[in-house]
Amino acid sequence: MSAPDHPQASALVAEVMATGALTGLPQGHFIDGGFVAAAGGALMDTFDPSRGKAFATFAAGDAQDIDRAVGSARRALASNWRRTTPAERGRILQRAAALIRAESHRLAVVEALDAGKRLSEAYGDVGSAARAFEYYAGACDKLQGDTIPLDDDHLAYTVLEPVGVCAQIVPWNYPLATMARGVAPALAAGCTVVVKPAETTPLTALLLSDLLCRAGLPPGVCNVVTGTGTEAGAPLVAHPGIQHVTFTGSVATGIGVMQAAATQVTHVLLELGGKSPVVVMGDCDVEQALQGVLGAIYENAGQICSAGSRLVIARPLHERFVQALAERARALTPGHALTDPGLGPVNSAAQLARIDGHVQRARARGVRVVTGGHPTTDPASGRGWFFEPTILDGLSPDDPAVQQEIFGPVLCVQVFDEPEEALALANGTDYALVAGVYTRDFAAAHRLARELDAGQVYINEYFAGGIQVPFGGNRHSGFGRERGLEGLRNYCRIKSVAARLS
Ligand code: ADP
Repeated sequence: MSAPDHPQASALVAEVMATGALTGLPQGHFIDGGFVAAAGGALMDTFDPSRGKAFATFAAGDAQDIDRAVGSARRALASNWRRTTPAERGRILQRAAALIRAESHRLAVVEALDAGKRLSEAYGDVGSAARAFEYYAGACDKLQGDTIPLDDDHLAYTVLEPVGVCAQIVPWNYPLATMARGVAPALAAGCTVVVKPAETTPLTALLLSDLLCRAGLPPGVCNVVTGTGTEAGAPLVAHPGIQHVTFTGSVATGIGVMQAAATQVTHVLLELGGKSPVVVMGDCDVEQALQGVLGAIYENAGQICSAGSRLVIARPLHERFVQALAERARALTPGHALTDPGLGPVNSAAQLARIDGHVQRARARGVRVVTGGHPTTDPASGRGWFFEPTILDGLSPDDPAVQQEIFGPVLCVQVFDEPEEALALANGTDYALVAGVYTRDFAAAHRLARELDAGQVYINEYFAGGIQVPFGGNRHSGFGRERGLEGLRNYCRIKSVAARLS
């Protein structure tokens, strides 16, 4: 029995299918260890993208709610979390991981419903969230400084301190997993947090903050304020009580976040967009590459910062590879995310319109559309915000479809003759997040890995890695690294102590 077939999941899915909604969803912000109404009392709708219909409301937060949440996080930092022993912090994070697993069915169903994520992918994200807490739980009591050799008359050492209250601005494509990968290391380092989930996917952040308290996290250590980027996100980032911002989202918003943070000299980590190449060499294992490229662009309907959205392929393989890929892409049939279809919806009507605009403009420029290219619906209901799995072929390096992030199920194909050309094409955008390489020649793969401008390179398996492996971008894809022990450093600051002994 796979996770989506589990009786607990089936009961929740049946409820959604029968009523269009779910009972028992969280209401309000999560501040100081409990759910509270928005100060202004306003509510917003959240939508089921598989049907394009509202199914729940949530609090529309503003600067007053942010102020309250930051105040709570500051008090929690000063009074209890900093003083909780590292071993105890680790035990709480371990309990959180176990609770996430125990409640995986509800978390996965809510995520699939709110984000429009295929149910099996949502289970994958719940697993990633649990792993993040487990991984950083083990790190809590291993954050140690150095002693520094000076001379007989001096003693010098460093201490790792928590940076303070951290803001986490979370996007809508991986709501739970992105929150977990930011919150877990922050808590492990002894920081407290205020999370602002995206306005189209607020629910799992609320469920997770409540779960963390049940795992033993003291009130105020993890707060969530829901609402829009302008009304809730902007005042959070510019709040004088915030010492660090982890932002995951678009380049334009990231630039604004960095500017706002600069007014308070607040440290930022930016995980922005990508236009990541998958370089397929002529000698690759073709079946392995086909599977890799298919998943790299159509998983989560292409709404992944690190999606493999450009196929950079050797000419001798090009025609037959693209044909085989198109056949598999056509077989990905749309359906309600909770039925675990081949293809899920995109997250919002606005995102669907953006994707459609990119493809329509490409078509108007004369770009060859091998397959797909149109918005579509769930055949069972005739509803929902879906876009056909699409392949745009034979693109020149300066084509806007190659240069701009589409953030949807649209693969852009570029063909090369010489290996050096492959490298130039792969590095030929302003983005530098991820790159994939498929080849049987390991020396060539590692030479390419050395030259590719990307925060991470995947060889013969796209999205290889996990919480242990640092992740982040260069150039317009942002800066700073999350995941791994590197991810902990964002939340630690070093204090040096030097003393004269005589
Ligand atoms: P998209 O354009 O795809 O919606 P964004 O990058 O704008 O993606 O959104 C990512 C996250 O940033 C969301 O949680 C959103 O609410 C938040 N956000 C948007 N604008 C701002 C802002 N000015 N300040 C802080 N956060 C913001």
